This record gives sequence, C-alpha cells and structure tokens, in this order.
Amino acid sequence: MFNLVLNSPRGTFDIYGNEIKYRDFIINTVRDLFDIFNFEEIITPAFEYTEVFSKSIGVSTDIVQKEMYTFPDRKGRSLTLRPEGTASVVRSAVEKKMLSSGSLPVRLFYIGNMFRYERPQKGRTREFWQIGVESLGSGEPMLDAEIMWLLDEIFFKLGFKNLELNINCIGCTSCKESFTSRFKKYIGPFAGDLCTDCKRRLKENPLRIFDCKVSQCLEKASGGPKITSFLCTECEDHFEKVKFFLKSLSIKYKISDELVRGFDYYTGTIFEMTSKELESAQNALGGGGRYNKLLKEFGGPDMPAIGFAIGLDRTIMLMKELRIEYKQKKGRIKVYFISTKRPDDLYSLKILKILRDAGISCETNYGTKNIGNGVKKAGKKGFKLAAIIGSEEIKTRTVSVKDLNKFKQYNFNQAQLVKKIMELTGAK
Ligand code: AMP
Repeated sequence: MFNLVLNSPRGTFDIYGNEIKYRDFIINTVRDLFDIFNFEEIITPAFEYTEVFSKSIGVSTDIVQKEMYTFPDRKGRSLTLRPEGTASVVRSAVEKKMLSSGSLPVRLFYIGNMFRYERPQKGRTREFWQIGVESLGSGEPMLDAEIMWLLDEIFFKLGFKNLELNINCIGCTSCKESFTSRFKKYIGPFAGDLCTDCKRRLKENPLRIFDCKVSQCLEKASGGPKITSFLCTECEDHFEKVKFFLKSLSIKYKISDELVRGFDYYTGTIFEMTSKELESAQNALGGGGRYNKLLKEFGGPDMPAIGFAIGLDRTIMLMKELRIEYKQKKGRIKVYFISTKRPDDLYSLKILKILRDAGISCETNYGTKNIGNGVKKAGKKGFKLAAIIGSEEIKTRTVSVKDLNKFKQYNFNQAQLVKKIMELTGAK
C-alpha cells in the first residue's frame, strides 16, 4: 500500500470532461481548415537533442536560458522536451530530405504538447498544447498573407469576433544588425533602469529586451527607434506587398512596432493574434513569422520559410470566458441501456450487440438494476433515448424504448428495433 497523495506536477493539468469537448471542436475545426488550405500532418518526437532548440531559438532567449526541460539520457546525451514545434519540424524536413524542388513549398501542420519551465499563472502552464503550421521553401509575400489568412480564418471559424492581428517586420540579418546597433546606442544610457535580465540582454542580444515582462523595460524599449525604419529596400518592399495582400483579403491588422517575438530565428514578417480580454502578458492566442535562415542553419538548403503556432489551452480558456460555445459534430445516435435482469441476461447482451453493430452508441447501466434510477442516470449523462429490458421484454422478444425528451415509451420488436430507433431520432 502506498499512502502518498499524488498531485500532477506544478504547471501541468489533466484534460477531461468538458475540456475534451472544446478541444475536439477546436481540433476538428483546424483539421478541416488545414485540409482546405492543403497542409499535411507531421508528428515529431516530444524530445530532441538539446542543440535542436538551443541553436535555433537562440542561446540568449528566455526559453533557452531558463525554461527548457533539459536532462541527460542514460548515455549522457543532452535531451530537451520540446518547448515549441518549429525547430523539430525543420530538423525533420532537413533530415528526411523533404525539400526537393518538385514539392515546394512543403506545407505541414502539427498538434502537440510543449514544455516550458515558466511561472505558472492564468493562461501560462509548464505543459501546454500547440497547433502549428509550417510552410517551407517559398519566400513569396503572398504566402505570408496566406498564412495569416489561415490564422485569421481559424479564429473566425471558432467563433471569435474581436481579436487583433498585430504584424511587424524585423527584416533580414543586415536590417536586424543596423537596427540593433542603433537600438543599443539608444538604450545604453538607460541601462541602470533595466532589470537584471535586461542588463544581460543588453550585452548578449539587445533585441530580446522587447520580450521582457517588466513594464519599465518594455516602456524604455518601445520609446526608442523602430525596426521598420531600418529595413532594406527588399524587406520594405516585401512587407508592403504582404500588407497589400492582407488588405485585398479584407483581413484587418495593426502594425505593432514593439512586436519582436521571443525566438532568434525570426526574420522578416512576424505576427501575433491577441485578445484585449486577456491580461497583457498572456494576451497572445497564437503567433508566428518568417524564419528564412533556419533551414540552412540546420544543414538544409538555403530556403525561406514561415509558420505559426496557436495555444490550444489558452484558446479554450478564452472561449469559455467569452461564452463561445463549442459545436459538437453531428453525432451518432446514443442509447442508454437498462437491463433489470443482469448478470446472466443473454438477451440484453444480444440486443446490445445488434445496436452497436448498427453503429448506435450504447452504454449499460452497470451499478443499478432499477429502471427509475437507470432513466435518471441516462438523463444526467445526456442520453435522449433509453432501451429497457425486463422480464416482459425477454419473454416477448421485444425492447422498450423511452424517449427521454418527450416522455414517451414504445415497445419494439427485436427485428425492427434498429429501424424504429432511426425513425425516432429522425436519422431515417
Ligand atoms: P510561442 O511559441 O511562444 O509564440 O507561443 C504560441 C502560443 O502558444 C501563444 O500565443 C500561447 O497561446 C501559447 N503558449 C505559449 N506558451 C504557453 C504557456 N506557457 N502556457 C500556455 N500556452 C502557451
């Protein structure tokens, strides 16, 4: 016997009951849209060699500095639970040589759990689920617009109305370099007012100051030069086209100068879908951008790419807060099965098999043989029909079926049972 009370680890949660219904609704909705936009699923391991994340996300980012679940395996190799999905997809696309010219751009989506050692709070946990897409091998600005169109469409189809699509362009390596040197000059004199993390960021990677959750640091950073003023002609032209395509698609967006996103691999267009209803530190439901150098950094071809990730749990949380209902898939017929003659009532078992063979979902009233209690249980569990079998039904080879909404009861012959249930539910 062990007497420990075991809780799930801090920052993790169990998903069951109602949450599963929201989750299924979201996943069904996105899968349908991924099909329409023609993205194929990829499933990568939940852990990778640590370098997959540290090199791509960037050694000076918060994720790599303090949030990764990193551990040696039994042979001493350093492994990390994935904190995000893009690096693994890129690793896989390069390793599995998916990037042959005939198949470009490769369009992939994933649904997976991610792990970050963060301070747990509302909308922020240590294990969470993301739905992401990656399009590898095209640099066309129309693709940027198409990817944001997909993001916008997902939230529209889920029933959200007042979300904000924030976009920015952080340029190519040379734009980033010229901005960084100017920004460093600007922020240097404020070094004393910055938090300890930002003092380090100032030395290692000043752009990361924009990720800081301390409002004073963010205010100082936002008051400085804007990255969009440092774009080269090519990046500026690309961004103008992206905005033009978004307008042509009637997608509303807001230019957000402070948006930099927390990973080093981003280049060019970046974006985030936010909600005013969420606290500012956790107000993003999803985000992404271009990462035009990452494939090459992974030893793959020098090809541009773009993607985004949506937080599944945060989306569920906001749906509940805004009272956005999940729509259930047109389900199968469900019948609650009440037999008063168990345990050795083979007639009931036979009927149960007939119904299930016909694709009707059945649950049996284990635990009670009382019809009244069985009917109550059926109602509580959301069943609209109950099939009742007692001595009389066994004798006459029939089944009584109770319509729990209309409070009507019928008696059907065994041979006609499936057909009659279909008629009752309007399925035929
Ligand atoms: P990121 O990969 O940081 O751009 O995150 C993309 C989305 O994942 C965010 O907009 C959130 O919805 C979600 N997300 C990120 N981190 C967490 C977390 N710690 N807990 C819950 N959701 C998260």
